[in-house]
Amino acid sequence: MKTEIVKILQPELGLSCGEDAALRRAGAVLMAGGLVAFPTETVYGLGGDGLNRESARKIYEAKGRPSDNPLIIHICRFEDIYEIAGAVPKEAEKLADAFWPGPLTMILPKSAQVPYETTGGLDTVAVRFPSHPVARKLIEYGGRYIAAPSANRSGKPSPTEAGHVAEDMDGRVDMIVDGGAVGIGLESTIVDLTVDLTKDRPQILRPGYVTERMLTEVLGAVDTDVTIIKPDSGQAPKAPGMKYRHYAPEGELVLVEGEPERVAAYVNEQAAADRARGCKTGVIAASETAAAYRADVVKCLGSRSDEESIARGLFAALREFDNEKVTKIYSESFPDRGLGQAIMNRLLKAAGHRVVRV
Ligand code: AMP
Ligand code: MG
Repeated sequence: MKTEIVKILQPELGLSCGEDAALRRAGAVLMAGGLVAFPTETVYGLGGDGLNRESARKIYEAKGRPSDNPLIIHICRFEDIYEIAGAVPKEAEKLADAFWPGPLTMILPKSAQVPYETTGGLDTVAVRFPSHPVARKLIEYGGRYIAAPSANRSGKPSPTEAGHVAEDMDGRVDMIVDGGAVGIGLESTIVDLTVDLTKDRPQILRPGYVTERMLTEVLGAVDTDVTIIKPDSGQAPKAPGMKYRHYAPEGELVLVEGEPERVAAYVNEQAAADRARGCKTGVIAASETAAAYRADVVKCLGSRSDEESIARGLFAALREFDNEKVTKIYSESFPDRGLGQAIMNRLLKAAGHRVVRV
């Protein structure tokens, strides 16, 4: 299959006539059962018609994703939630008021028209209303219910720019809509509202830009899936996708925790030994400490006082290590709260939970 790439120059300023026509064509591809990758505010998504079982099958195939790992259905106006969810509790309406359009996904009972191929066989469905202007237009032109997991090959870091999508999906999808680099860089927060809300709390299944604290302000207390707080709990995560290996660079990644000077001393000593053994070494660091490292490649993601910059640069850094053939990577760790919880969740998965405390 030949993949067509369509460029949207300044999505935040609106679409030119030509760009709008290109998005209409992309929408027609979706409605005909094809696949289109597109930017959202979180990461790039791999879109197909969420109500078409054949499109869901194609998404799994293009990603190399296990078909028990359900897809998120993206909508472009709130009221469409009533079409794909069998029941919409008032908590969902409150969350939508506060965070939609935006980086929050809700799990709800599915309606009859959502095929089991889209939900990985579950009776529940994941729904999100993204804020990115290109995503919203494409969803509208594509028939309003677009199933879209992240547009990476299964196991690889999620794409935060169109070039990453092309690396993984060229020849596997009909179109890639290039809207430039995304703003957030980590996937949406997932909240499960299918618990019995008369006695149990909504539960965070995947941390993201919308933090536990932000959710608490709207809903009162919320819980977090135990497998996120205690990855070694031995329990199965409630979001099926969270059980799979993810985000992993080809080189071995180790997370190092401790006082900054001790972390730098440890990493430099290890990296020197790795290099003596013929490894190409890499480090992921914040700007405050990046200069302290001696390795072949040091990626400075941003300042610790600006966690959004760390989140935005993380997946691109992991991909660049692959392109630069780095075989041994060390990463600083970040405080496990607020947006840091989402950053640490992705880093821990990328590291296969290899953590050293110094
Ligand atoms: P991605 O689209 O790559 O961000 O992955 C979607 C995530 O949403 C995966 O971790 C899925 O397991 C999760 N997800 C989608 N639908 C459901 C659902 N019905 N119940 C629980 N998790 C879901
Ligand atoms: Mg993904």
